[in-house]
Amino acid sequence: MAARPAPYLDDLNPAQREAVERLDGPVLMLAGAGTGKTKALTARIVHLLMTGRARPNEILAVTFTNKAAREMKLRVGRMLGQPAEGMPWLGTFHSICVKLLRRHAELVDLKSNFTILDTDDQLRLLKQLVQAANMDDKRWPARLLLNIIDGWKNRALTPDRIPAADAGAYNHKGVELYAQYQTRLRELNAVDFGDLLLHMVTIFQANPDVLTQYQRWFRYILVDEYQDTNVAQYLWLRLLAGGHRNICCVGDDDQSIYGWRGAEVGNILRFEKDFPGAHVVRLEQNYRSTPHILAAAANVIRGNEGRLGKELWTEAEEGEKVRLIGHWDGEEEARWIGEEIEAMQRGTRGVRPMDLDRMAILVRAAHQMRAFEDRFLTIGLPYKVIGGPRFYERAEIRDAMAYFRLVVSPADDLAFERIANVPKRGLGDKAMQTIQRVARENGVSLVDGARIAVAEGAIKGKGGAALSQLVEDLARWGRMTRSQGVVAEDDAVIDDDAPPVQFGTPEVSHVELAQIILDESGYTAMWQNDKTPEAPGRLENLKELVNQLDNFENLQGFLEHVSLIMDNEQAEDGAKVSIMTLHAAKGLEFPVVFLPGWEDGLFPSQRSMDESGLKGLEEERRLAYVGITRAEEVCTISFAANRRVFGQWQNALPSRFIDELPEDHVEVLTPPGLYGGNIAPSRGIESRAAAADGYNSPGWKRLQARQGQYGMSQPRETRHTVIDLDAVASFAIGERVFHQKFGYGQVAGIEGDKVEVDFDKAGLKKVVARFLTNGTD
Ligand code: ATP
Ligand code: MG
Repeated sequence: MAARPAPYLDDLNPAQREAVERLDGPVLMLAGAGTGKTKALTARIVHLLMTGRARPNEILAVTFTNKAAREMKLRVGRMLGQPAEGMPWLGTFHSICVKLLRRHAELVDLKSNFTILDTDDQLRLLKQLVQAANMDDKRWPARLLLNIIDGWKNRALTPDRIPAADAGAYNHKGVELYAQYQTRLRELNAVDFGDLLLHMVTIFQANPDVLTQYQRWFRYILVDEYQDTNVAQYLWLRLLAGGHRNICCVGDDDQSIYGWRGAEVGNILRFEKDFPGAHVVRLEQNYRSTPHILAAAANVIRGNEGRLGKELWTEAEEGEKVRLIGHWDGEEEARWIGEEIEAMQRGTRGVRPMDLDRMAILVRAAHQMRAFEDRFLTIGLPYKVIGGPRFYERAEIRDAMAYFRLVVSPADDLAFERIANVPKRGLGDKAMQTIQRVARENGVSLVDGARIAVAEGAIKGKGGAALSQLVEDLARWGRMTRSQGVVAEDDAVIDDDAPPVQFGTPEVSHVELAQIILDESGYTAMWQNDKTPEAPGRLENLKELVNQLDNFENLQGFLEHVSLIMDNEQAEDGAKVSIMTLHAAKGLEFPVVFLPGWEDGLFPSQRSMDESGLKGLEEERRLAYVGITRAEEVCTISFAANRRVFGQWQNALPSRFIDELPEDHVEVLTPPGLYGGNIAPSRGIESRAAAADGYNSPGWKRLQARQGQYGMSQPRETRHTVIDLDAVASFAIGERVFHQKFGYGQVAGIEGDKVEVDFDKAGLKKVVARFLTNGTD
């Protein structure tokens, strides 16, 4: 190649340069995390354009997420020195296939304006088919069929190609129902997600002329994160690259984390066989992380068998060791991480001051996010959740909260509308309109309107019966919540030594009541019967919601807390800490990374531990590898000794992956010293009792032996107990108080629910009374 000024080549190492400059024929870049695979792939696109080998629309570049595609476009533009307009074929498999399928829909009997169904639509359709086949859809849930069909589509199997081994699927009816489902979709002029690829593979296989046209059109093909492609994606690529074989794939077998969604790491290992003469580039220099971080990641992944085995090295300065810290419970973990982040932001934690957008918290399970979101909202630390809604914005959480709202205030019509038919109670639009009309005519709430409508027989049949049940249940739960914590003040203390007499002593706590509401309404069952991959996560989120209630006096206090913190949200712009799952973090990097919840059963997940064989566990280990290798400078792993499930303590053992961290590269932190004894008091008697109980439990004692080697924090009672409004009124001017963000201070004035406090360190500030606790302890 003639020497010419090419700044985008200058900052590549020789191996990367080779991968960039070898434009013809198959190239596989197989290399560990942070070695510059994505960077080289991006430079390759620029090189194709700069050398005139291809025009922007002749390059097919596949990324794993839309976000990654946007990022790549930006980078190409930056390297080119001008915006990378007109790269229509840089995107995800799905986004590219939608475009292609719209052009050729008629080849699979669709019109080009086909609709793409979501999971709900798919399920409704499947359920109809299952019922029409006279199958018991309780025993054979439509969700199960959906999963089976998705699995076949991931393997590019049309109904006529299902292997004999799968003939027994779904009570021997799976294949037939799959065929019927595909027919129905065609009649509806619709496709599901899996069809996007499946149809394109079918079209290419059945229409050589169309395939040839695209083989000529897409002169160069590039694929990032190749280790996570499924069979359908792989076939699609192989077909397109079949002519010119100008395909460049990059990936890392150690980062294959989508096996549960049909990805086959075998695709990457098979590349050289499929494309004989493929040029394989190995990159070994890591440009992202410090040696300690790399050593920790390498030692963990070493536990997997059947790896290609790649060594990474770096010229980076040694930096800090990977930090490991044990906490008493999840709330404490979130509190500590919040403080660390603030200290790093201020630059008081050893490292240089760090903007919030340079820090990330990567969790194994989405429900872990709740503790962080609550904590950060409370202390006013800006954060964003990547790749999903924030905890309180999740559909299942909003549904559950709607039930709680309705129980606390039956006039909450919006809440009623949300849950009246969730789970399905056979209430269609017509029934809802009737309820609304009756409510309007009588000038009452929708719940009362529903009661009247039922009594008048205005809603008949199954829907009427279910509605009547719902109305009754709501009233009953309402009575249960109103009986809670009611103490007749005047009569309460008869003599000083006797325990206070309580009237209307609740039979169940508000935590139990919340669980009862979710269970008896059928809401929990709705998700238990749901066989989509998201359902277990939703159930976990619901559990987490119930756990969370333990921090509050009653349901109302909790609902107020949520509206308050949601209200407290800051402006959209400005730097924010990122919270996301490990899966969503693939390909990304951050100077500071927190990896919380390293406990057996959470990470690795219980499911992977229960499975026979090592497959699941090895995928979890790769996930650990992905997590650690996201960190550039500071990587902190943490675990908690206790997690609460349904308000009950459960002991957790530190993750087995912690045992796999190399001692020489890990620093064990001991938290108490970090706080300088700045311990906030708690008003939660329940939480104190629970903490004390947990501390003496056999599980804790068992843990001590193992955890002695790690710095285990002592139980401290700083969970963010929000005190009730009566208690707020009791603050007096001059009283010592504690605020979770600003520390200790003295009450200077009171204005409604706001308190002006002269903080020892932060000075005079007006804060919400609910976030203050008594500070004299
Ligand atoms: P992952 O496996 O996590 O996706 P990757 O191999 O795709 O990682 P990149 O994200 O491309 O790695 O690069 C990691 C970091 O190293 C980026 O910040 C990138 O800018 C930097 N980098 C890559 N190559 C070089 C190089 N030759 N010189 C300097 N920095 C580089
Ligand atoms: Mg990458």
